[in-house]
Amino acid sequence: MLADKDRIFTNLYGMHDRSLKGAKARGHWDGTADLIKRGRDQIVEEMKASGLRGRGGAGFPTGLKWSFMPKESDGRPSYLVVNADESEPGTCKDREIMCHDPHTLIEGCLIASFAMNANACYIYIRGEYIREKEVLQNAIDECYEDGLLGPNAAKSGWDFDLYLVHGAGAYICGEETALLESLEGKKGMPRMKPPFPAGAGLYGCPTTVNNVESIAVVPTILRRGGDWFSSFGRPNNAGTKLFAISGHVNNPCVVEEAMSISFEELIDKHCGGIRGGWDNLKAVIPGGSSVPCLPGKIMKEDAIMDFDWLREQRSGLGTAAVIVMDQSTDIIKAIWRLSKFYKHESCGQCTPCREGTGWMMRVMDRLVKGEADPAEIDMLLDVTKQVEGHTICALGDAAAWPIQGLIRHFRDEIEDRIKHKRMPVAAE
Ligand code: SF4
Repeated sequence: MLADKDRIFTNLYGMHDRSLKGAKARGHWDGTADLIKRGRDQIVEEMKASGLRGRGGAGFPTGLKWSFMPKESDGRPSYLVVNADESEPGTCKDREIMCHDPHTLIEGCLIASFAMNANACYIYIRGEYIREKEVLQNAIDECYEDGLLGPNAAKSGWDFDLYLVHGAGAYICGEETALLESLEGKKGMPRMKPPFPAGAGLYGCPTTVNNVESIAVVPTILRRGGDWFSSFGRPNNAGTKLFAISGHVNNPCVVEEAMSISFEELIDKHCGGIRGGWDNLKAVIPGGSSVPCLPGKIMKEDAIMDFDWLREQRSGLGTAAVIVMDQSTDIIKAIWRLSKFYKHESCGQCTPCREGTGWMMRVMDRLVKGEADPAEIDMLLDVTKQVEGHTICALGDAAAWPIQGLIRHFRDEIEDRIKHKRMPVAAE
């Protein structure tokens, strides 16, 4: 279990003063100017050495991503954009950072922006996060009053402005290019790539989009060193990580733990175990709703919570939102709900997603009621393969993968449902 001294988020549960005064007392904003004066190259190299992989779901190496930004300006400004549009079902970790430890994020924005030659940063926060927006805006205001933001920010010699922008509640705006469109005041629709944001992002200027947690860990990594951060977890899966655990555990929670912790330890130490005991575990969605579910028997047997192990199981760490389902769960209905969600949230601009999410949802409608023909199971699987990898953004994959996981691991249950032509009583 991660020792308290190694936790980056020391106020994750809101037990302490979240104001600037409280944050400074816990070591934030300590020597920020000195960190910045190390220079861009050294900061980027330290981030590479830390092994940090993006915490928003894709897991792309953060230091490498920063290195794609131009070192010298060609006349265009550079931007950092922080993706706080946390809308993935099951995911609520960034909310805790913004509510209880907002200064980890704000200090990270300043340092990361300096490292990418950006004098301005935009935090795009989810529309439903009204209280979180107020807390974060208050913290930003405190920083301006204290000289930590604005001209010569934190006496670093770097002029820096931070803007908080409130979204309007569309899931697709969590996709980085849809987010940029929305920031520009347009409809939130993903862009074709290339060009990638580092070449032409916000207002056509070099831009890096990073997740809240990815930026909030930056000051501590620089203070304690990339080697310290990479000492947690397995190679290629470094660091500490926030896990958001929900569903049928005794104590659902958000917790910071070492990457590569076993699933068993994560659940037993922090969640008080599975509701009804480990034999009652049916399935787990280990990384937010966009990754395939895994059956309980796989998760019980030495499951490792990191990018590589979960990918080997044909699932993923995603946002590390761990959704636990016990034997009382109608797993077909659970995945059907996700199908409805993705159908609703598709922006509709590309045909495989616009039409495919509707197709998948309609077949799932019949499957969940046991009204489908057995041949429709393979037809549905085929439709998911037609959607996967054939769309502008990853929402198409996100809609296809949960259904693929359902058919891969719970085909017997679907066939049984069709055979008896009815839903289980508890799930109706
Ligand atoms: Fe829009 Fe779906 Fe295409 Fe993404 S995959 S651009 S959400 S239609």
